[in-house]
Amino acid sequence: MNKSADHSAIATVPLWINGKAQAATSTRSADVTNPATGKVTRRVPLANAADIEAAVASAKRAFPAWRDTPPLRRARILMKFRELLVAHHEELARLVTDEHGKTLPDAMGSVQRGIEVVEFMTGIPQLLKGEHSPDVGTGVDTHSLRQPLGVCTGITPFNFPVMVPLWMFPVAIACGNTFVLKPSEKVPSASMLMAELLREAGLPDGVLNVVHGDKEAVDALLHHPDVKAVSFVGSTPIAKYIYETCAQEGKRVQALGGAKNHAVVLADADLDFAADALIGAAYGSAGERCMAISAVVAVDEVADQLVAKLKAAAEKLKIGSGHDKGTDMGPVISRVHRDKISGYVDQGVAAGAKLVLDGRGHQVPGHEDGFFIGASLFDGVRTDMSIYRDEIFGPVLVVLRVKSLDEAIAMINANPFANGTAVFTRSGGAARRFEREIEVGMVGINVPIPVPIAFYSFGGWRNSLFGDQHVHGPEGVRFYTRGKVVTTRWPDDKALPAGFNMPTLG
Ligand code: NAD
Repeated sequence: MNKSADHSAIATVPLWINGKAQAATSTRSADVTNPATGKVTRRVPLANAADIEAAVASAKRAFPAWRDTPPLRRARILMKFRELLVAHHEELARLVTDEHGKTLPDAMGSVQRGIEVVEFMTGIPQLLKGEHSPDVGTGVDTHSLRQPLGVCTGITPFNFPVMVPLWMFPVAIACGNTFVLKPSEKVPSASMLMAELLREAGLPDGVLNVVHGDKEAVDALLHHPDVKAVSFVGSTPIAKYIYETCAQEGKRVQALGGAKNHAVVLADADLDFAADALIGAAYGSAGERCMAISAVVAVDEVADQLVAKLKAAAEKLKIGSGHDKGTDMGPVISRVHRDKISGYVDQGVAAGAKLVLDGRGHQVPGHEDGFFIGASLFDGVRTDMSIYRDEIFGPVLVVLRVKSLDEAIAMINANPFANGTAVFTRSGGAARRFEREIEVGMVGINVPIPVPIAFYSFGGWRNSLFGDQHVHGPEGVRFYTRGKVVTTRWPDDKALPAGFNMPTLG
């Protein structure tokens, strides 16, 4: 909390419970800051157990009627919601830039990717279709159906204030669940606007609720007996904690964690194309993307040339407010985070890596209080260095040199994170081998940030996702529903004999 802020003129973001904005009962709060100016712009309540109880109770009350609303009608509300999201696309993106700091075009793109999830979910009647097998026995039929779970919750990170919530609640409510969203307390405003738009689209009160808060609010959700499923996206230690707590509570859970994404550049790659792609993937959104490329694995003789091209492009990045035209890279989320990133650069130097470009201490004129840091580039990095081992989540790109594709694949498969990865090559054979042998959830072939489109599902492996189902797309529908198989016989007037053996239905 920023004790120096003048709170008298600063609005407090409310909670959204039972279809309306309401004040929290909790007296704890945190500051929301504009990272480009360093100024506190809003206050956000940190919900307590009573606030969570009110939100879950509202969702529980709304569940039976929403579950029984035909999927086609639910889809029509989502169609209207989609129209409203499109109409408010820029407003939402501006809120993202205000509270997160990323550039407006980048924020617009991320909102678009969220809208695409809503578009896919308007097909929910098709997605919920079951199977039917007539005559599994004489006069016996079997069919399957998928039913909603009840109250579901989503806990989301600061770096995608619109897109990541949209990975969750449209899918859950399309399936007939009700939802309590707990967005990151650093970026609360976009979720409130989305809740208002959904109400305008005709969503019944209580189907979507929004609470703000920190560990206290999250724990109250995880331990609440009426919460049936938890979707989480955030850092690996918290993802693991969420997964373990939900397992103890017997709740369904998908907990997406952090990342260290490698891009392999083979000797036959188009180096200009690869360098351009890598610059955007490493430094876009100031490296605060779970799919950012943070490690380049240069194979064989390409390293010298590649590092030179990366340096030349990174030096030219325009760093400034995300609202200014032409900005390539905005600030990072907080002063604390900026100093942590700077500390990693110190550690890299101390460990003996070659600092090719130093982003520490970067100042943006007119934005001296903003949380800016320049692009850093390291060469000659080893796998035992903290700049390689840890997720830095900032504009720091490390280059490791290997002798072969085999060595690159082995390095990536040994890394505890396994969210995304990419290979740059002109060889179909090498790309095919990479695709098959790499043990990572999302793979790009000459595509640096292979975020799956909304009709596929998003998720990593190992420490990048705890749980069985990825988010949105077909796996999202499976996560938010459970299966039932019904076996039916309509006996005629002949009395059936009592059966004592395992039925074989023949
Ligand atoms: P975070 O883990 O600090 O916070 C995520 C959410 O958890 C927030 O809503 C926060 O309020 C809550 N939280 C924080 N501490 C908690 C605690 N001790 N107990 C319970 N809840 C707690 O993550 P962040 O800093 O907001 O986001 C950045 C991280 O998210 C990075 O590690 C990034 O890789 C990851 N991320 C992953 C994906 C993915 O799809 N795998 C996508 C986006 C971001």
